[in-house]
Amino acid sequence: MRMSNLYLPTLKEDPAEADITSHKLMLRAGLMRNHSAGIYSYLPLGYRVIKKIENITRKHMDASGAQEVLLPILQTAQIWKDSKRWDKFGPLMMRLRDRKDREYCLGPTHEEVVTDLIKDEIRSYKDLPLNLYQIQTKVRDEIRPRFGVMRGREFIMKDAYSLDIDYEGLDKSYQAMYDAYEKTFAECGLDAVAVEADTGAMGGKDSHEFMVLADSGEDQVAFCDSCGYAANVERAVANKELLDFEEENEMEKIHTPDIKTIAELEAYLDLPAARMIKAVAMVADEQPVLALLSGEDELNEIKFKNYLEANQLRAAEEEEFAELFNSTAGFIGPVNLADIRIIADQRLEKIRGAVTGANQKDYHFKNVNIERDFQVEEFADLRLVKDGESCLQCTEGKLNIKAGIEVGHIFKLGTKYSENMGANYLDENGRTQPIVMGSYGIGITRLVAAAIEQNNDEYGIIWPKAIAPYQIIILALGNDEAVAEKSEEIYQELEAEGWEVLLDDRKERAGVKFNDSELIGIPLRLTIGSRSLENGEIEAMIRENNQKSKIKIDNLKEKTA
Ligand code: ATP
Ligand code: MG
Ligand code: MG
Ligand code: MG
Repeated sequence: MRMSNLYLPTLKEDPAEADITSHKLMLRAGLMRNHSAGIYSYLPLGYRVIKKIENITRKHMDASGAQEVLLPILQTAQIWKDSKRWDKFGPLMMRLRDRKDREYCLGPTHEEVVTDLIKDEIRSYKDLPLNLYQIQTKVRDEIRPRFGVMRGREFIMKDAYSLDIDYEGLDKSYQAMYDAYEKTFAECGLDAVAVEADTGAMGGKDSHEFMVLADSGEDQVAFCDSCGYAANVERAVANKELLDFEEENEMEKIHTPDIKTIAELEAYLDLPAARMIKAVAMVADEQPVLALLSGEDELNEIKFKNYLEANQLRAAEEEEFAELFNSTAGFIGPVNLADIRIIADQRLEKIRGAVTGANQKDYHFKNVNIERDFQVEEFADLRLVKDGESCLQCTEGKLNIKAGIEVGHIFKLGTKYSENMGANYLDENGRTQPIVMGSYGIGITRLVAAAIEQNNDEYGIIWPKAIAPYQIIILALGNDEAVAEKSEEIYQELEAEGWEVLLDDRKERAGVKFNDSELIGIPLRLTIGSRSLENGEIEAMIRENNQKSKIKIDNLKEKTA
């Protein structure tokens, strides 16, 4: 590609809209531009990187036996109602209506579509196992889109769905995905670690997240320095996202199975909507916990419905909590903010030191998440697990807390979706059985940002070779005709050999060309100027370490190889 023709709007200064390195560099290096909050256009260089990551992902998915499909972005509300997630997704889901006033959403994920797709087609155990995947745009109306493509409202995901006859089959499918993920991230040049994770809104059994460790990461990961235990500490630092909740003065949809409208809720609570400035659905394992915070008088009406079950407390604690909640469990009544604080504080005491998803008896706290379980801003800076605490698994080692970026997530879903949506097969004995499912995601566009977080210096991006938009950049310096000709010749030769080459033939000063080449992070730079040409030499620079060397033009072929 000749850069005189390339649409590459680079920026000299850090854009004000960007807080973290990858976001700044993606804008400065002309990889993308912002359209609206959390929505981006990808420019030629950025899109090339995305396609490379997609293709590496595709290669390992195909090798694992998964088959690529393309599913609709526009999805009917009905399938989400069937799976009982229409309400559960809340404001994260982008909803719309067609001309006939039928409800739709823009897919935040595709478990429902896949289950609906296969449910009438798969009849017998002979049709299984199966793993279907796609690479496609997802839409989530994130409460705080930020950090560029790290948390977009529209982003590209690779999502896969495994279908098996039993849990043994699921274990195999899960392992195949786990292995494919490790290969994918490694080939992309990323240092990603698998950690045990909470299954959250997806529901289900086992789950792992793949984390790229980086200071800018929004997740907290606990590593044991002795037994190798690694788990995601659910993002307990509930930071600004939580405070945003304040701004959402509107009544959100109420997530209880029996209450659908504000009028019904008013009747139910015997409380006018005007007094409820906020209503949050806090959903844990399909058990709704509804908190209504009323405005003027700082009174809080709280319904702890199935609270204890929802939080899966240990038996011993269940008793204590039953006492604690005695006044509120099972009915609605006015509760003081102070009471909530005491309850939450005590609960925090209990769960502090327990790692979410820890695979240890009595310590498996599902859905421990302040942001989700307690949308109460007073707890903004409490953490569930502290750096240096003893490991819960081996008790000997110390836990190390590091920040991480979740680039992938795999779940054993089990039969939740197949049972809700009627996706069954006939087993060898002719009995109807629910299909056992798994779901597996990779954040393709987030991965671009994560790769930059891990690979950059003061001059710009340092692309890992496998995902660099181009492998080689040739800088033709000055106005010398001979330089232009030689550069063109080398460019054509390298292209003919199969390299992906940028030729900087722009009428720009040398300084601009050097700076841009470093900013956009192409792995190998070849510089040709009048003097070097006279000596029959060009300067080569490896972007990874910025080391320069002279190469005889005649030896170029061996050197680039
Ligand atoms: P997060 O915890 O960061 O909100 P998630 O757990 O909601 O992510 P999943 O439902 O597990 O995300 O989706 C699979 C993958 O999609 C994630 O591991 C992540 O890499 C990517 N992803 C999720 N949300 C976004 C987003 N808003 N922008 C970019 N990538 C995202
Ligand atoms: Mg999310
Ligand atoms: Mg997550
Ligand atoms: Mg996740």
